[in-house]
Amino acid sequence: MLCPNCRKEILLIMEYNNIELDFCPACLGIWLDAEELQWILGADFDEKNIFTKSSVDETKKKCPRCRTYMHKVSIPQKEQVIYDVCPNNHGFWFDRGELERLVRDLPEFPGTHSFLQWLTDVFTYRPQEEEK
Ligand SMILES: [Zn+2]
Ligand SMILES: [Zn+2]
Repeated sequence: MLCPNCRKEILLIMEYNNIELDFCPACLGIWLDAEELQWILGADFDEKNIFTKSSVDETKKKCPRCRTYMHKVSIPQKEQVIYDVCPNNHGFWFDRGELERLVRDLPEFPGTHSFLQWLTDVFTYRPQEEEK
C-alpha cells in the first residue's frame, strides 16, 4: 500500500498484540484497518459513536485500499484534530502524532493505556511541541 500522505512511500507493517498496523517510514503516519481500532481499544469502542463529520477544508487524501477520497472527521469538543476515514469503510489514516492524540482523548477504553505506552515507545513523539 502506498502512503496516502506522501504518495510514494510504501507502508511498512508493525505488530501490536497480533494486530498489523501499517505505517509510513517517511512521514510516520499510521493506517488502521476498520476493525483494528476496536481490537486495540476494546469491544465497546464504536467509531460511529466517536467521530463526527468535520467541515474543515484540509487537503483530501485517498484511501490506500480503494483510492477513494477519504472523509474528514473529528471528535466533538476536540475539533482541532482532523482524522481521515475511508467512506467505503476500509479504515483510518492518522498523520504523525494524530493516533496518539486520538487515543489520549479516549481514556475510558480498556486498551487505551497500554496502546498509548506502546505508541510512545515506538515513535518518539513530542506532543508538547505539536500543541503549538
Ligand atoms: Zn508518508
Ligand atoms: Zn477505502
